[in-house]
Amino acid sequence: MTPALLFILFLSMADVSMVSFLKWSFDIKLHFFPLIVLYGDIAEPKTSSRNADPCTAIGCKWPKSGRYVNVPYYISSDYSEYERNIILRGLQSFSLSTCIRLVPWKSGDRDYIYIESKDGCWSYLGRQNGGQYVSLAKNGCLYQSTVQHEVLHALGFNHEQVRSDRDTYVRILFENIEPGREFAFEKKQTNNLGTPYDFNSVMEYRNDAFSKNGKPTIVAKCNPYMKFGNAENMSANDILRINKLYECSE
Ligand SMILES: [Zn+2]
Repeated sequence: MTPALLFILFLSMADVSMVSFLKWSFDIKLHFFPLIVLYGDIAEPKTSSRNADPCTAIGCKWPKSGRYVNVPYYISSDYSEYERNIILRGLQSFSLSTCIRLVPWKSGDRDYIYIESKDGCWSYLGRQNGGQYVSLAKNGCLYQSTVQHEVLHALGFNHEQVRSDRDTYVRILFENIEPGREFAFEKKQTNNLGTPYDFNSVMEYRNDAFSKNGKPTIVAKCNPYMKFGNAENMSANDILRINKLYECSE
């Protein structure tokens, strides 16, 4: 079956939900469809419980083949060569420091990510069954850090500020959050893989994400004036988590 046909089939299943989250902190748009729960820029089927998200213990990890974890990708032909190269550099960055290998989709690959410029930057959390969108809008998502962020969601990782231990490190100022966006700050039962909370993670929101009044929505307990959430590349902890979750050294 061709990627295009699979793609149409995937669309026709209609379990598509989209959250637009330009540079993952702004301009969120929600399109609700049945059976979907939304977490910031994560589109998540309701049937799956998903940092490493709990789902990684029950099947949403990508399978290992020998020493590597191959994640097939298909990039929409709508991107220019320049845009495609930005995406490719982001995908290839995983192979520099982890056992994750983003590989071109080929016939017979059942599970894969389909990268397309939809309405914002978003991804499903963890491996789904079949093709799954990763949206990287041309206007706002074509940065290496954003490509890494959305692929990390697809690998099963949640946002830093929803970690199970986040209350030790940050205070969420719900009074400054835009009404209706509170869900993106709800704490989750995550597997933190023995790694510390990391303000330099590409999975960390900006300290003023979804602010309704310009005031901070996330404050670091160690330094209330700290600005964060502008990582341009995966941090050492982001890399360590991938390597631990996917047992890259084995
Ligand atoms: Zn995200």
